Amino acid sequence: MAAPTNATGTAGALNTFTAAELAQKLDSGEVSSVEVTQAHLDRIAAVDGGVHAFLHLNDKALETAASVDAKRKAGEKLGLLAGVPIAIKDVLCTLGMPSTAGSRILEGWVPPYDATVVARLRAANLVLLGKTNMDEFAMGSSTEFSAYGATHNPWDLDRIPGGSGGGSAAAVAAFEAPIALGSDTGGSIRQPAAVTGSVGVKPTYGGVSRYGAIALASSLDQVGPVSRTVLDAALVHDIIGGHDPRDSTSLTDTWPSFADAARAGALQENLKGLRIGVVKELDAPGFQAGVSQRFHETLAILEGAGAEIVEVSAPNFDYAVAAYYLILPAEASSNLAKFDSVRFGLRVNPVGGGTVEDVMSATREAGFGPEVKRRIILGTYALSAGYYDAYYGSAQKVRTLIQRDFAAAFAQADVLVSPAAPTTAFRLGEKVEDPLAMYLNDVTTIPANLAGIPGMSLPMGLAPEDGLPTGIQIMAPARADDRLYKLGATLERLLVDKWGHTLLSQAPALT
Ligand code: GLN
Repeated sequence: MAAPTNATGTAGALNTFTAAELAQKLDSGEVSSVEVTQAHLDRIAAVDGGVHAFLHLNDKALETAASVDAKRKAGEKLGLLAGVPIAIKDVLCTLGMPSTAGSRILEGWVPPYDATVVARLRAANLVLLGKTNMDEFAMGSSTEFSAYGATHNPWDLDRIPGGSGGGSAAAVAAFEAPIALGSDTGGSIRQPAAVTGSVGVKPTYGGVSRYGAIALASSLDQVGPVSRTVLDAALVHDIIGGHDPRDSTSLTDTWPSFADAARAGALQENLKGLRIGVVKELDAPGFQAGVSQRFHETLAILEGAGAEIVEVSAPNFDYAVAAYYLILPAEASSNLAKFDSVRFGLRVNPVGGGTVEDVMSATREAGFGPEVKRRIILGTYALSAGYYDAYYGSAQKVRTLIQRDFAAAFAQADVLVSPAAPTTAFRLGEKVEDPLAMYLNDVTTIPANLAGIPGMSLPMGLAPEDGLPTGIQIMAPARADDRLYKLGATLERLLVDKWGHTLLSQAPALT
């Protein structure tokens, strides 16, 4: 195979197409799933040494692709994305494939079942390429807290790809996979999308099943799509979304087709009648200048297309990061108690033997990394009898106030927008020793998780000072995910009209 000639790989190679384009080529018989899958495996072989998006490759990928080709040949009616490859964040359980959540404590663990979202992808005949790298148990904003080494941003290998789902975002941005799954507890789909120039969606809480997603903070976690276009994200969301009786928080709603919403958005002539709220507290003076500049240019484009831009205030957002970093560790400390050396993964026997408690403590000491330990300690402290009301109780009250801020804002606007991340991709190593600086990178994304509302990150151009991607976040009321796809697709079209190309086609070459 010829060496990749540009950012995307060999011009015109099968790894350069979107999932929707590949689906069309597969459907018309122009290409086979084996060819499409092989093209992505070749791309992974060529560039993943430098990017390190994948922790594990599915050795059955080509076999699955061949079986999908055979079904198509036999005239079987197949789903829209049948035969299209997809990468899966390692936080999701995959039958027969290791699922580590980026932790040593689960090294080599192979789940006996599929997460519901994975089962739905398989049932729709997608081809699982493999498992992507992530911060350990999804704690982090840079993927540097993975126990298996950092992932690198395809735009600049010395920079972080965001986190915790840096692997999924980098795989998509490096054209190693057309689409991927991520999980978003405080921004882990949207912030990596912002800093890699890809599209990422956190659905409404309860809109996508969490069954088989290794839990970080159960009241915040949500699985969602990562892609290079809004339509591709919608196509994935349509497959993975909808009620799941195995998840007690799963909504029983009937959802509209998000792909239809995206298609309608792409064709939408103007935005007349749409009220777009700019959240004052998320348009902060401390944000990187180029991020703010691109954000305001994008607002002008939206206004030029007929939208009404209104300023809204959400005063309690100032306390969102603080509340989140009490609620999340509290829930995480409880969720991670099951890693006790008895039921899953690693077991470390202390030298000279010891009690059951000694074995548990030696295992957790060796199996968890520093950020996970930090949060377990914070969480158990916040939940302890003497401090529960002062910390956890107060944080829950703030959560309610943030939900009220959103309710007030959505009375004035149909959707809300903000930068998806306050900065472009920072350098590897820059914040890893400074947890607070790392936490503050989530300031724009956390409020949506605390309120359970959906959010999308969409590329809005390169920051002039460093030439790196920036993202705009669109938020909608709970259950109105279709608004994200509709407006997202319109904005995507307006931006491509302006630039004359997609953002990712401008990424520097990887080899
Ligand atoms: N960066 C955030 C954190 O460290 C978000 C994590 C996530 O969404 N999984 O908690």
